[in-house]
Amino acid sequence: MTEPDASGTPRVLGATVDDETRCVHYRTELDIVAIRFACCGEYYPCHACHEEAADHPAEQWPLSERGREAVLCGVCRAELTIDAYLVVDACPVCASRFNERCRLHTHLYFETERGAAAAALATAPTRSVASEGSTAPRT
Ligand SMILES: [Zn+2]
Ligand SMILES: [Zn+2]
Ligand SMILES: [Zn+2]
Repeated sequence: MTEPDASGTPRVLGATVDDETRCVHYRTELDIVAIRFACCGEYYPCHACHEEAADHPAEQWPLSERGREAVLCGVCRAELTIDAYLVVDACPVCASRFNERCRLHTHLYFETERGAAAAALATAPTRSVASEGSTAPRT
């Protein structure tokens, strides 16, 4: 809900090497997305760019923020919500293919289901997950 810059497109920080958000770390044909980081609200091409250029540790978007626009297509400059990005292989606007290997790094940018479950367990160590649902199937 913030006002866009005069240019209309968000700036991308970090060690970019071209206008499609490739950076010194990830610069294949498919590396065309930048990620907005939850900690500072700025777009970086990758987690390593943030680590080098930002003066603070990266934070991940919580599951409750999956509706936020936090992924930028470097080709057409469309901003995708986290939810939208995680279910596509290519930009829904310009059809440019995304690097599927980015999936391996999802947890560096976005809190994952598994991460949330682990965090919940860590804060409630006495609760037994296995006791629920074992006796009464819902269907
Ligand atoms: Zn940051
Ligand atoms: Zn980078
Ligand atoms: Zn696009």
